[in-house]
Amino acid sequence: MHYKTVTMAARKRIALVAHDAQKANLVEWAKFNRGTLGQHELWGTGTTGALLERALELPVNQLLTGPLGGDQQLGAMIVEGRIDFLIFFWDPLEAQPHDPDVKALLRMASVWNIPTACDRATADFLISSPLMHAPYERQVPDYEAYRRERVAGQA
Ligand code: PGA
Repeated sequence: MHYKTVTMAARKRIALVAHDAQKANLVEWAKFNRGTLGQHELWGTGTTGALLERALELPVNQLLTGPLGGDQQLGAMIVEGRIDFLIFFWDPLEAQPHDPDVKALLRMASVWNIPTACDRATADFLISSPLMHAPYERQVPDYEAYRRERVAGQA
């Protein structure tokens, strides 16, 4: 795989998602970090986004609810370079009806080298990084080079 770099702006586009048993945890974390979150562009799956917008009194762009495709929408936004940061408090103790979507979102976050926190401790470390307030050169797959190689290999 070939890689190229893209510049993540100082103002990050942050996706926030929590499964039901983790929603209170995420809301509490977000309220504590409201000052920092307010400096960035916030996105959320339907229910999480609505809860956060109400609790933080900050605009949160809301996608569909997770089980109806919200995780997939976020995954697509990562692929398209429209999300650069993921806070995803998934529930490690309960099976989800949309487990394949959850897995797909986490997989896309890894493929596209998106900083991802799946628990509160990691989220604390990420949000207190000096990189939160600076541009960052992120390595991403060079899709065009990958595609050219594949096409050449099939010819
Ligand atoms: P929700 O979706 O924020 O709409 O509850 C989250 C999820 O379960 O992926």
